[in-house]
Amino acid sequence: MDISYIINELAEDREHYFNAVAPPIMQSSNFIFKTVDEMRSAFEDEYSTYLYSRGLNPTVDILRKKLAALDKAEDCLVFNSGAAAIFASVLANVKSGDHIVSVANPYTWAQKLFNDILPRFGVTTSYVDGRYIENFERAILPNTRVIYLESPNSWDYAIQDLRAVSELAKAENIITICDNSYCTPLYQQPISLGIDIVLQSGTKYIGGHSDTIAGVLSGSHEMTRKIFQSEYMNIGSGIQPFNAWLLIRGLRTLPARLERIARSTNEVLAFLKQHPGVEEVIFPFDENFPQYELARQQMSGACGLLTFVMRVTDLQEIENFCETLQHIFMAVSWGGHESLIIPRAAGMKKADFDAANREHRMIRLYTGLEDPAYLVKDLQLAFNAIGHHQA
Ligand SMILES: *Cc1c(COP(=O)(O)O)cnc(C)c1O
Repeated sequence: MDISYIINELAEDREHYFNAVAPPIMQSSNFIFKTVDEMRSAFEDEYSTYLYSRGLNPTVDILRKKLAALDKAEDCLVFNSGAAAIFASVLANVKSGDHIVSVANPYTWAQKLFNDILPRFGVTTSYVDGRYIENFERAILPNTRVIYLESPNSWDYAIQDLRAVSELAKAENIITICDNSYCTPLYQQPISLGIDIVLQSGTKYIGGHSDTIAGVLSGSHEMTRKIFQSEYMNIGSGIQPFNAWLLIRGLRTLPARLERIARSTNEVLAFLKQHPGVEEVIFPFDENFPQYELARQQMSGACGLLTFVMRVTDLQEIENFCETLQHIFMAVSWGGHESLIIPRAAGMKKADFDAANREHRMIRLYTGLEDPAYLVKDLQLAFNAIGHHQA
């Protein structure tokens, strides 16, 4: 299916809503039945019809069909946050006594789920450096039920060989889940590489305007039905119709935005690479990236997030740099129109900062939709402020 078709036409029954180009927001909690029989069959299978909007909703369904098609998956569920999608996908596939193998340093709230919540129910997790397939082989136990992946990671962009991990997991009857927020289905399709469940934070590129929180989970129809009937309905964290409508709107421009962001990211990357204030730049499509070949092989694009290591001797320089930036905002998240930074040092106590540790000098930069020259100038002025003038 053409991406243009998916984004502009798929699942839009325009003749049912006055041939409007934009879909209606079906802001209704419940739906009417004419016969008891119809109501009975809705009760029997809520995944087949409109009954109550904690379950299915027509506006959300337009979005689900588009997102499933983009992921080349049979089906998809959309949640009120990426964290809820992570929670539901994992919870649906483990029970007391089970074991999870997770890639090291997954998204914060995946870690909290594995470290704080699941142990209360007798589910344990081992973390592995996912760059090496042998680490997965070694970590799998007889009770391993889930392998949790995030490729690339959203700080150091470490990637996993998704096809190799999925083959290993299939042989052992283990469910694979992959957080694909960095790439979106436009730049990587884990389902096509054999992964069972693919997740993404819709807050990032799908929404694309820093105005809504959402999460996406795609997989087989059997898997989404299972998750719908338990976690989705029970947690009650499905996306609301208005937010689904915002994501449909975001999808219209997703390819154009990613294309622009990819070009701008390359310009910003080139500036940072030659700058004396930068010790190292980490970006999966940079030739010096240690897993460059695998990145090129399983991802069709990379953009937006990159990390650079500042050449500084104390924390104050990093703080001055970040606080001098006028147009690149200091904030969490990414995927919107606006460029953003986060210094790694903001996530630690001041006293723990060690300039000898390169990770402590990391800055994560998200390149948004602004003119790249405008961003480069902002970065240059901030480097100047800490005495790092252009070479
Ligand atoms: C933001 C993010 C999430 C969580 O998504 P929310 O929509 O914030 O709940 C998950 N994974 C990655 C990689 C993210 O960046």
